[in-house]
Amino acid sequence: MIVSQQKPLDEILSELDGISRVFLIGCAKCATVCKAGGEEEVWQMQESLTAVGREITGSIVIDEVCHMLRTARDLRSRKEMVDEAEAIVVLACGAGVQSVSATTSKRTLAGLDTKFLGNIKRLGQFEQKCSLCGECLLSRTGGICPVTVCPKSLLNGPCGGMDNGRCEVDLESECAWKMIFDRLSDRGDAERIKKTVSAKDNSTRRQPGRLKLDK
Ligand code: SF4
Ligand code: SF4
Repeated sequence: MIVSQQKPLDEILSELDGISRVFLIGCAKCATVCKAGGEEEVWQMQESLTAVGREITGSIVIDEVCHMLRTARDLRSRKEMVDEAEAIVVLACGAGVQSVSATTSKRTLAGLDTKFLGNIKRLGQFEQKCSLCGECLLSRTGGICPVTVCPKSLLNGPCGGMDNGRCEVDLESECAWKMIFDRLSDRGDAERIKKTVSAKDNSTRRQPGRLKLDK
C-alpha cells in the first residue's frame, strides 16, 4: 500500500493563505489505513480549519482517489459544494491529488506527504519494502529487496564494508545481502548468490513519471 502522513496543519494553512472557502477530500483506501485521510481525519481537518476561520463547503471520502473516472464522477455529485469552494484540500497520496487536480480548475492542495510503498507490520506501523524500481529482482534474492533494504541498493552483494553481518552504513541493521544469503541458504539455494545480476537499464527508470501500465 501507499504509506502517507498528514502534513503539519501550519503548512496546510500557509498554502490556504487568503483562501476562506475549502472543500475536503479523503481516500477510503490507503490513506484511511494510514489514518491520514479517512472519514475520521477528514472530520478532524474540518474541525481544525473551521477553528481558524475557514468555511468548509463540503467534503467527501472517495473510494480510491487515484481512480480518475471515479473521482471525476464523485466530484460531479458534489458539484455545488466544489463550486462554492476556492480551494480543495486532498487527504490522499500524490496520485490522488493529481486525479483531483486533473478534474477541476480549482486550486488543489496536497494535505498529505506520500512516503513510500510499504507493508503493514501491525496497526499504524509500516515498513518500506519496494522502491518501485521497475525490474523486480525478488525471484533471485529470496524475496528480500536489495534495492530498498541495502542503503547502496547493491544488485550484487555484500559490499566489502559488511561488518559481522551488520551494514557498514547503519551498524544497527543487518546487512541486506547477509539476510538474502541466509534466506537462500535456508531454502537450499545458497549457490544462487554467486549468479551476478547485470546492471539495471536506467533508461527505463520510472523517473520522471513517464511509465504507464495498460492491461
Ligand atoms: S527489486 Fe525491489 S524495488 Fe525493484 S520492484 Fe522488486 S521489490 Fe520493488
Ligand atoms: S553492508 Fe550490506 S546492506 Fe550495507 S551497504 Fe554493504 S551490502 Fe548493502
